[in-house]
Amino acid sequence: MNPPTCAQALAAAQTLGLDRLDAQLLLLHALGKPDDARAWLLAHDTDVLTEKAAEDFRAMCLRRAAGEPLAYIVGHKEFFGLALTVDARVLVPRPDTETLVDWALELLRTPAMASAPAVLDLGTGSGAIALAIAHSLQTSGRQGTVTAVDASSDALDVARDNAVRLQLKLGFIQSHWLKEVSGHFHLIVSNPPYIASADAHLVDLAYEPLAALASGSDGLDDIREIIAQAPGHLLAGGWLLLEHGYDQAEAVCALLAREGFVQVQSRMDLAGIARCSGGLWPGGQGIGAGFQTAG
Ligand code: GLN
Repeated sequence: MNPPTCAQALAAAQTLGLDRLDAQLLLLHALGKPDDARAWLLAHDTDVLTEKAAEDFRAMCLRRAAGEPLAYIVGHKEFFGLALTVDARVLVPRPDTETLVDWALELLRTPAMASAPAVLDLGTGSGAIALAIAHSLQTSGRQGTVTAVDASSDALDVARDNAVRLQLKLGFIQSHWLKEVSGHFHLIVSNPPYIASADAHLVDLAYEPLAALASGSDGLDDIREIIAQAPGHLLAGGWLLLEHGYDQAEAVCALLAREGFVQVQSRMDLAGIARCSGGLWPGGQGIGAGFQTAG
């Protein structure tokens, strides 16, 4: 069979069940063109693909049709304006998580965090959150340190490669949550696993690392552990911010309050779902009178 035209290739992808945008992005990838070249595709409907491009495109469509995330197939995902390299070693960064970054950046703009804040990202995966924060500090010419923690050395490799490629400075620690971490921070953020281990939704996420998704029978095992450990690593007046499931805000706020956090509150994602909760740690290792409560 002769290689198809662009239009024919896209039509064939849609018969496999791919949506149009995914098919266009995969075709651009097969043609070695950037994601933002969709206008080019429209103008080249009748161009005939090379044998190789047609073959590559078909193979990628089959992977996508089987449920593999687009980001793994093309090898990258945009998060907070940063092009991150991702593969099956890490969770695909979700737009929901930008809510957590927005909140973190808002806190980092308060006077309490004005001078060289120390930020910790637990379960960094691709490095998405840590890199978005580091990028913001770096582009606004601010001092400060961002340390990325993950239990998985594979994930740390991905995060490190992203940091090098984006020329952003991060510290890295391999640790199960705060176990191997020493020192105290102004801000601890995390998008931990939070899906209940028997949740039917996990079937749809089978290509992504289960350890980054599931967390015990109610999905809160890791969040409980982080909330219990965080006070030992927060400066007085420091904040802990956690992403969680759509129905977990109340439970997470209760855990934070019970641990002694104050100003406990939640933030909504773009879909209007309470997606992150956090609180201020009032006690512990004080960093002096200059560090007022934020929020
Ligand atoms: N938000 C992801 C999902 O439900 C889960 C991410 C996580 O567990 N941290 O698809």
